[in-house]
Amino acid sequence: MTESNLVYLRPVTDDVDTGGFWAAAQQRRLVVQACTNCGAVLHLPRPMCRVCHSFDLEWREVAQHGTVYTSTIVEHQVHPNYPVPYTVLVIELDDAPQARLIGSIPGRMTPDAGTPAHVRWETMPDGTIVPNWALD
Ligand SMILES: [Zn+2]
Repeated sequence: MTESNLVYLRPVTDDVDTGGFWAAAQQRRLVVQACTNCGAVLHLPRPMCRVCHSFDLEWREVAQHGTVYTSTIVEHQVHPNYPVPYTVLVIELDDAPQARLIGSIPGRMTPDAGTPAHVRWETMPDGTIVPNWALD
């Protein structure tokens, strides 16, 4: 398989519930969905607040910093565009600890919980910009 015919895993950017996250990402802005009625952070995004059942939701910009919540090393390759080994990170956002985002970094790493991290924006071959993470 050559580079030109590899299938890239792309986010669904036009979904009614999650589209705002990806629209902000195209501007290299990190957002989380929040309820304007009670302030709850809703991650994963959804059409209604899980706390107060309000439909009044917004996309709230958050700092592009967080800390490692946990991580794991992937040794078994399941997709040609994701060579192993790589380390999957679960990042807890500094501004919204209720929201945890996933990222990955090449190689084997075992960062301690609480290790600071920041967003590393990646541009896919079709121009879609996605957030990923790097350790500080
Ligand atoms: Zn609410």
